[in-house]
Amino acid sequence: MRAYILPHPPIAVPEVGGDEILKIDATEKSFAKAAKDIAEYDPETVVVISPHNIMFKDAFYIAKGPGGVGNLARFGAPDPSVYYEYDTELSEEIVRLCEEFKVPVAYSPEGSETVDHGTVVPLYYVNREYKSDKKSPYKIVRISPSLLSDAVLYDMGYLIERAIAHVGRRAVIIASGDLSHKLKEDGPYGFIKEGPQFDEAVTEVMKSGRLEDFTNIDKDVNDLSANCGYPGFVMLAGALQDYKITPEFLSYEGTFGVGYGICIFKCENWYVRLAKASLEKFVKTLGKLAGEELSEYPDFLRKEKAGVFVCIKKRGQLRGCIGTILPTYDDTLEETCALAISAGTADPRFDKVTESELPELEYTVDVMGAPEPATKDELDEKRYGVIVTVGRRRGLLLPNLEGVDSVDEQLEISCRKGGISPFEDYEIERFMVERHT
Ligand SMILES: [Zn+2]
Repeated sequence: MRAYILPHPPIAVPEVGGDEILKIDATEKSFAKAAKDIAEYDPETVVVISPHNIMFKDAFYIAKGPGGVGNLARFGAPDPSVYYEYDTELSEEIVRLCEEFKVPVAYSPEGSETVDHGTVVPLYYVNREYKSDKKSPYKIVRISPSLLSDAVLYDMGYLIERAIAHVGRRAVIIASGDLSHKLKEDGPYGFIKEGPQFDEAVTEVMKSGRLEDFTNIDKDVNDLSANCGYPGFVMLAGALQDYKITPEFLSYEGTFGVGYGICIFKCENWYVRLAKASLEKFVKTLGKLAGEELSEYPDFLRKEKAGVFVCIKKRGQLRGCIGTILPTYDDTLEETCALAISAGTADPRFDKVTESELPELEYTVDVMGAPEPATKDELDEKRYGVIVTVGRRRGLLLPNLEGVDSVDEQLEISCRKGGISPFEDYEIERFMVERHT
């Protein structure tokens, strides 16, 4: 996962800004650098959080439909005009999670066909890297923030990230937002001292990578600064809460009285980082992570207690997968460390991982939800894993696996793994997982 904070001044697009663009040289160069970073990452989907689409006070808005056209005709530049296909599967998974966790969301085609400038301006630069000007080479999801509390914005961000994990997308998230609009007397909204104060506070948080600190910015400063980015920044913080963030702050400018901050966030999932570090140390030294090596990991890994499955792939092929249904260690940190070593060295289906293979391995960590009894009708191979049991024989299959496309298939494989005949009278349990990749 990668994430970006980008502004959206139409004037940064040469077809609109003309020579004015020379006055925001740093912003233009940073846009180009961030866009190059996105193009190199080559996402399947770009999620854009923009405050200039339809926006509601009390609900998040997600553009519905097959796609929309984006250009800056409103700002005098009808070209380039790009067709953006929407990632409806991802949009629908976000909506489903919102409904499940009671986060208010409006998923509607109203206003969906016209892609707003908060989305168009950053993507203009991205498309230029791809040398694509009529149809975008990736799909997009367009989400508007709401004026709900910071806590709800943060939760919504997390649901977006979970939805990306559930549908298995290679995705980037852009929080599109300008900073204060009140930086200069001769700017569009005049000057207020809270303007520069807000911009300084926000850019400090970007530079630190501790994005949860956005919510510590003084509320009055935030309110008075006349910015449009803050709600989206808090959503981004929520989306990245399971990740180690390495920020690359590119630039800040306020030439026209409006603040433009640009930052790239490289993100590594904490669970995945931990599994990788644990197996690598064991393969190289037979030792386990301890003391200082574990000090960087966040507290939530020490507070949580759950079964964990670690699966390892090499060049797309399974290379080991071992897990626990119920926790066997004091916390998820220890559980993940131990199971990563097991997956790499004790899966009876595979040889032990060797040191030379380590750079090629990819890790998935599934944190188990509690299993519950279920009937066949209550299964869904995408959402639920399954456990089948007859006496002491037991077979388990994780949810949402490549190549498993029906409940029947899921049950058949689980039975085979447990040495159970599909015609036996077996008990079924289902469980959910939080998948980390
Ligand atoms: Zn704006």
